[in-house]
Amino acid sequence: MKILVTGGAGFIGSHLCKYLLEKEDEVICLDNLFTGSKKNILPLLSNPNFEFIRHDITTPILLEVDQIYNLACPASPPHYQYNPIKTIKCSTLGMINMLGLAKRTNARILQASTSEVYGDPLQHPQKETYFGNVNCNGIRSCYDEGKRVAETLMFDYHRQNKVDIKVIRIFNTFGENMAVNDGRVVSNFIIQALKNEPITIYGTGKQTRSFCYVSDLINGMHKMMNTENFTGPVNLGNPEEFTMLELAEKIIKLTNSSSTIIYKELPKDDPTQRKPDISLAKEKLNWQPSIDLDTGLQKTIEYFKQVI
Ligand code: NAD
Ligand code: UDP
Repeated sequence: MKILVTGGAGFIGSHLCKYLLEKEDEVICLDNLFTGSKKNILPLLSNPNFEFIRHDITTPILLEVDQIYNLACPASPPHYQYNPIKTIKCSTLGMINMLGLAKRTNARILQASTSEVYGDPLQHPQKETYFGNVNCNGIRSCYDEGKRVAETLMFDYHRQNKVDIKVIRIFNTFGENMAVNDGRVVSNFIIQALKNEPITIYGTGKQTRSFCYVSDLINGMHKMMNTENFTGPVNLGNPEEFTMLELAEKIIKLTNSSSTIIYKELPKDDPTQRKPDISLAKEKLNWQPSIDLDTGLQKTIEYFKQVI
């Protein structure tokens, strides 16, 4: 199978490329290296089945492929808010380009959508049938609304042009290869704890998230891509829910750190609670996460010890 992974030099993308190569697929990794890094794919470059193309998906590209995993999009709030117009172009123009490629080559395409399509959810836990509670003109909208339009485009290309689509909604995922400057909570807290610097909690720390270790996610993504007669959307995440204060305390303990906790202003539209309902993934994909938060954190801590 010849597989295109856009965003393949990023955090999740680099794990996916490695996983696909281990399955003996041919992988084309396409990335503009905005938040991704060549370092993440360095061990893969010597594999003859691996090819890296530096390219931006907002510009069309001609390739011949059997499957497309569309992951290209900055994912951490500081990164997607750095150039919001570019972020929304990535999920709209970029999505149209990738769907055009899928249509021309008859490739199956999987879109990395997000729990952010539920916004600041009023339904808890979130099921795929929930339409969400999203601000359309706030600082998170470039990402949230971009990803919502991307889902709309996926389903319109499916209905109108019979493109073979798969939509997964990824909930907070963490692990090795997250960038040191990523800015998301798990990497921020681990780096702060390892440096014995204050842990920065935004707001009261009572807001919740549910964290999935990356290998569980990759397994779910691959299952979804290779399951017949199911377009999704399907939630992929770990339903164990924690407050940010609990996460900070856990990381301080696991790193044996002398860090204190400091409180900073809560960014606007920061969701209050988030936890996936994964009954659909269990039913359709026979998938559920197997790595608990402590185990995943330990692996991630070891990684950051090496890189900082
Ligand atoms: P990441 O920032 O590490 O990876 C994104 C990759 O896309 C980077 O390598 C970046 O350079 C590349 N990229 C960005 N814009 C591009 C463009 N226009 N053209 C080509 N490449 C481009 O983030 P990640 O956590 O690995 O996220 C991967 C995907 O999964 C994203 O689409 C993200 O929205 C989605 N997702 C991630 C999470 C999570 O918790 N990690 C949750 C929900 C959804
Ligand atoms: N957060 C925090 N300190 C940090 C980074 C993030 O308290 O240094 C909070 C953030 O406000 C949010 C939660 O942690 O409530 C998860 O943030 P992240 O950016 O990881 O992801 P998202 O908000 O997109 O789920």
